[in-house]
Amino acid sequence: MGLTKASTGIGALDQSESIQRTHAGERLIALAGNPNVGKSTVFNALTGLRQHTGNWPGKTVTNAQGVHRRGETDYRFVDLPGTYSLLSSSVEEEIARDFLCFGGADAAIVVADATCLERNLNLVLQTLEITPNVVLCVNLMDEAKRVGITVDLEALSKKLGIPVVGTNARKGYGLEELMAAMESLTGGQIKTAPVPVRYTPVIEAAVASLQPLLEQHLGEKLPSRWAALRLIEGEETLGRRILEGMNLDEEGEGALLKQVAAARRSIVDSGVEQAKLGDVVVRCIVLMAETIAGTVCTVPCRCRERDRKLDRLLTGRLLGLPLMILLLFGVLWLSIAGANLPSEGLAFLFNQLEEHLDRLFTYLQAPLWLHGLLIQGMFRSLGWVVSVMLPPMAIFFPLFTLLEDVGYLPRIAFNLDSSFKKAGACGKQALTLCMGFGCNAAGVTGCRIIDSPRERLIAIITNSLVPCNGRFPMLIALIGILLAGQVSQGLGSVLSALLLVGFLVLGVAATLLASRLLSQTLLRGVPSSFTLEMPPYRKPQIGQIVIRSLLDRTLFVLGRAVVVAAPAGMFLWVMANVTVGESSLLALCAGLLDPFARLLGMDGIILMAFILGLPANEIVLPIIVMGYVSGGALVEVGGISQLHALFLANGWTWVTTLCTALFCLFHFPCSTTLLTIQKETGSLKWTAVAFVLPVMIGMILCALVAAVGRLF
Ligand code: GDP
Repeated sequence: MGLTKASTGIGALDQSESIQRTHAGERLIALAGNPNVGKSTVFNALTGLRQHTGNWPGKTVTNAQGVHRRGETDYRFVDLPGTYSLLSSSVEEEIARDFLCFGGADAAIVVADATCLERNLNLVLQTLEITPNVVLCVNLMDEAKRVGITVDLEALSKKLGIPVVGTNARKGYGLEELMAAMESLTGGQIKTAPVPVRYTPVIEAAVASLQPLLEQHLGEKLPSRWAALRLIEGEETLGRRILEGMNLDEEGEGALLKQVAAARRSIVDSGVEQAKLGDVVVRCIVLMAETIAGTVCTVPCRCRERDRKLDRLLTGRLLGLPLMILLLFGVLWLSIAGANLPSEGLAFLFNQLEEHLDRLFTYLQAPLWLHGLLIQGMFRSLGWVVSVMLPPMAIFFPLFTLLEDVGYLPRIAFNLDSSFKKAGACGKQALTLCMGFGCNAAGVTGCRIIDSPRERLIAIITNSLVPCNGRFPMLIALIGILLAGQVSQGLGSVLSALLLVGFLVLGVAATLLASRLLSQTLLRGVPSSFTLEMPPYRKPQIGQIVIRSLLDRTLFVLGRAVVVAAPAGMFLWVMANVTVGESSLLALCAGLLDPFARLLGMDGIILMAFILGLPANEIVLPIIVMGYVSGGALVEVGGISQLHALFLANGWTWVTTLCTALFCLFHFPCSTTLLTIQKETGSLKWTAVAFVLPVMIGMILCALVAAVGRLF
């Protein structure tokens, strides 16, 4: 028999969060937990194929439900969004909190990570303030054991006053015990007695002053202690809902609000500002979580000690930034220096393959236009894209994933946090910027982690000011051309990496400046504060990194490039071979653009290549090459020195190379990114701003460089 709502303490004040049970005996269980603790793994293991997903009413957050049958009883699990707290500073937190308060569930399972119980206990304690019917699932017990952390589950259960079960959800260990505990709890065989969080004496006194009245009117719908705290904190929407649930008449409500005001005043009089009250409350919860974790966990001190030492170094005021740049340099240098040889090898392979294909086409007596279209158009474009892009990507992505896996990316965000705040934006933008290095469309989607709509917009609009991996190879090639013949190859790769770091720093600087400009004009506002999660440093799983970065990133990006480059190659071949009068279509268009492009230090062909490269940045360079070759097809797939010779013959100087590189860094986002921006913002206006902003920056910089170049 499922418990009635009234006896569970999780009352449904409002039906909007309620999940419909399919039959009366079904027990409704909320599944909560921090992100990345294995909550989905628990959910999937328990509900198997009996699940379905939709969205939470009116929100874009996924709502997954599934049913677990145990004996004759059905348990309907509702997978809440992964959150660190229930204090509702984000949509996810609001959904999780509202479901726990008003969703009418019989009980909740909170999944916690055994390797960092301290942080996870914050959510557990906050959940226990809303409902006593909780089973704690301490997951990742195997991981904890591996790193030498032990958790005394029995002691933890006594400290919290609720059942605690250790699990390894990946292997399914402990899930039977978890369900047994849930059965006893919802069946009424065991009663929980959670220990309340102790706040400061002044807050406790203020809460106690409101409790009798609240208890009287809320009954068992909501815990009076929790409701009192929220009313004192004064969050409007939640406060309104609590009041509605009390069904007070006007006079009663007036009396209650007076009491609330008096309670607040008593806290303010003690020296705690109303705006700081939330912080004090959080601090008390964190302190209690720390104390409990400290008594039930033994953490090998070397783990934490090591983490602290590393953090002092990597996020320190003095060395944090320089080390970050040095690390970036190392990664880029390895990508550039390591890519040379495989690049040449791949180019050789493609040329060999082309010869065979040529012979095949001649043997089949294929018409000349078809031969040109497929081999010189499509196949050569593919060859260029693969041999120039694949090697640096196959090195860069695993290295980048490695940094992600050991937990360095949040440290980057930490290092850049104050710069972004000064620019009136959000520190989390640094993380979305890092994602942008991989792919701007991914970076734009990643901006969902930023809660404030204003700051999210700033992050979305400025994301393409850092080069995505489609532009990296082109930047690397252009830097190679700039240095070609000037220095030896060994020194060349060091200088190339340095210059590339320079371009990236320029991209980040432009992001900060543009963010500042936006936050002072179109998107005015003050930066919100947030707590940045610093996960422990983890030993990387090399095998997984290689597989993940090669499959998820390298092949994905390459696949996209190939899909776009193949038809683009054919299209260009047609443009270059269809003539109007004396000149080809390609030359005609380039001629039209030429005067304007010269102002920007480039030429018509280069500018046209950028425009035609809208579907994917990776095809810009091959288009430039194709435009210069009189035969109307791409030259043989080759390396940097061939490129250098070809460009020299077409009048390139260092000004042309530099301006092209600058425009490569700052021009409109590719069509995929634009579509993503449109989807994420739902606004053509902001998509247009995201289009125009980088182009303007690029044009101004290029015009300046070109003007200086002319002086010499
Ligand atoms: P969620 O974000 O909380 O839903 O986390 P997921 O269920 O997606 O799990 C995150 C990662 O942890 C996945 O790679 C899981 O396979 C892994 N995982 C989940 N539970 C365990 C566990 O008990 N032990 C180990 N070693 N890995 C686990």
